[in-house]
Amino acid sequence: MKTGVVLKPQHFMSDAYLASAAGAVLRRYFTKAPWRLPVNIELLAEHLFDLVISWELLADEEGALTLGGVRPRTRQLVLNDRARDFFEKNAGSENFTKAHEVAHIMLHVAETPGVEPLFSEVLGPPPIVCTSALKRPPREWQADRCAAYLLMPEDLLRAECMRRELAAWPPMYDLSRFLGVSISALCIRLQELKLVRIDGREITSLQAKR
Ligand SMILES: [Zn+2]
Repeated sequence: MKTGVVLKPQHFMSDAYLASAAGAVLRRYFTKAPWRLPVNIELLAEHLFDLVISWELLADEEGALTLGGVRPRTRQLVLNDRARDFFEKNAGSENFTKAHEVAHIMLHVAETPGVEPLFSEVLGPPPIVCTSALKRPPREWQADRCAAYLLMPEDLLRAECMRRELAAWPPMYDLSRFLGVSISALCIRLQELKLVRIDGREITSLQAKR
C-alpha cells in the first residue's frame, strides 16, 4: 500500500497542548540522554525523528530570509546556507531553528496510508519552509512555542536557574548560550515562569532563595 506524508490542515493548538507535546517528546529523549540541560536538539532530531540535518541554498520567501525547512518524506531537516550570517549574528538562532523544524515534524505532518506521496521531492524546495518574517501563519507560531518548550522545559529550567544568579545581563547571556536559544527567547520564557522580571534594561531575579 502506498503511504504518503501529508501536511495536516492548519488548526488551533493551545499553549497547553504544545507544552504537553514537547513534554512527551522530552520524556522519550531523556531515556537516551542524561536528565539535564541543555537539550541536544541534533541528538533529539536524529534519534527520535530520524532526521538528517543538512545545509542547502534555499530561496527567500516573500522578502523574508529563509532560515530552514523540512522534507518530511525524506526525513531531511534543511538549514539555509544563505542564513549563516544571520545565525552567526543572532546567537542561539541556528539551534532554535532546528528545534522549530522538529516541532513541524511533531505537530504538522502525518503519515497517511493510501495516498500518493505528496512530498517525494528530494531536490527542489522543501514543502515546509520557515523564514525570519515577523508576520507568519499560526503554524509558524506553534512551531516556535513548541521549540521553546523543547529547549527550555520548565522543571529543568527552574533547577538550572537555582544554580545561577540571574540579576544581571551577563549571566542571562551565559544561560542563553548554554541552552542554545536567543536572549529574547530566554527572556520570554523566564518571565512567563516568573523567574525574572525585566523592566527596560533592569533585570530582577524572582527566584525564591533556599
Ligand atoms: Zn516553520
